[in-house]
Amino acid sequence: MVLERSAIRPDIVWERIESLARHGKHGETGVSRPVYSPEWRAAQDEIAAWCDEIGLEVRWDAVGNVWGKLPGTEPGPSIVSGSHIDSQCPGGRFDGVLGVIAAATAIATLKERYGAPKRSLEIVSLCEEESSRFPTTGFWGSRAIRGAITESDLETVISYDGEPIGEVMASAGFDPMRFADARRNDLSAFVELHIEQGPILEAEHLPVGIVSAITGLRHYVVTVDGVSNHAGAFPMDLRLDPMAGAAEMISDVIGRAERIGRPAVTTVGRISAEPNYPAIVPDRVTFMIDARHPDPAARLALYDEHEAAIAAIGERRGLKVSCVNIKEHPPYVCDAELVAIFEAAAMNLEIPFKTMTSGAVHDTQRMATLAPGVMIFVRSKDGRSHTPAEYTSPEDAALGIATLTEGLRTLAYT
Ligand SMILES: [Zn+2]
Repeated sequence: MVLERSAIRPDIVWERIESLARHGKHGETGVSRPVYSPEWRAAQDEIAAWCDEIGLEVRWDAVGNVWGKLPGTEPGPSIVSGSHIDSQCPGGRFDGVLGVIAAATAIATLKERYGAPKRSLEIVSLCEEESSRFPTTGFWGSRAIRGAITESDLETVISYDGEPIGEVMASAGFDPMRFADARRNDLSAFVELHIEQGPILEAEHLPVGIVSAITGLRHYVVTVDGVSNHAGAFPMDLRLDPMAGAAEMISDVIGRAERIGRPAVTTVGRISAEPNYPAIVPDRVTFMIDARHPDPAARLALYDEHEAAIAAIGERRGLKVSCVNIKEHPPYVCDAELVAIFEAAAMNLEIPFKTMTSGAVHDTQRMATLAPGVMIFVRSKDGRSHTPAEYTSPEDAALGIATLTEGLRTLAYT
């Protein structure tokens, strides 16, 4: 028996959004809730209390992820839904937390309507994703679940205030040495609802997206060396000017992504010149490139084109160029069967949607080493996020949650 759309009430979803936004409230509509802070603790306590009210088996793991389990009648691995509870500082009321609210609402609805599932369902409220307190946590919550934290991380992951994460965990009431206990290897699917954080659904007047792939990215540091000289006395045709080369490279890589079109994106930042004065041709210019594409082959082709263009420009101008890859995240192509199940869920409920890719990275990508994954996006007003201006209407949120609920019903009950 298919769920009806009206099973998920926008007013109740909104109450939950407002209730969680009290913890770390920043101004009228913002939230500052870094991992292991008292506000973070209060939010996780509230989620644990909801799971308890729903009648789930509630558990905190060693790093502070909160789990709620609705056991299945058949033994076997769990189908998990959730997202992260921490925020940017300040961030909005929806990023991450809406996925936790969605999972709790979906599992509560399924339990109420259909009783115990065949296959176990679990909600997870991940402790950390945003790197807003510690720049190098690398998705601390899902990293612990994957068993990808080592003892040395407890010392070397340092907050912006200089505190090692192990000490911060201990003062928040966790035993950091138990981190390995958070590991799971009994999950069969991971489904994450998240705000889109981009403008595509809004532009197409659609409330919901089903994510077929999550982007991969690479960061390059490009160093261009030339010869410093007088800005007046040295003619243009005799210069070895790294600024001229860098400018041409930057416009080439950005222009290339523009010509390829969506979903390719290339961004340049952290530009610096040495010396950095208007009356001196610099010796060296450095800049960083962030280039992303969700298609594995198209992504590598984009990088080949960027590297070839940078080398050719350097050579033509007689400049010495180095282009170093310092960060690599492969894309995650979502599980095709799960994508089809959630597309069918939206169709069954007559919810308008599109199948799309994600340009932001998410926990689902990381959890994919444990279990096949898929994401549901809901429309973001003006495409904005990581700001108190972030907004998703309760009606759109409810349609996304209805899609999640119907898909989880297919996975766990049929
Ligand atoms: Zn997020």
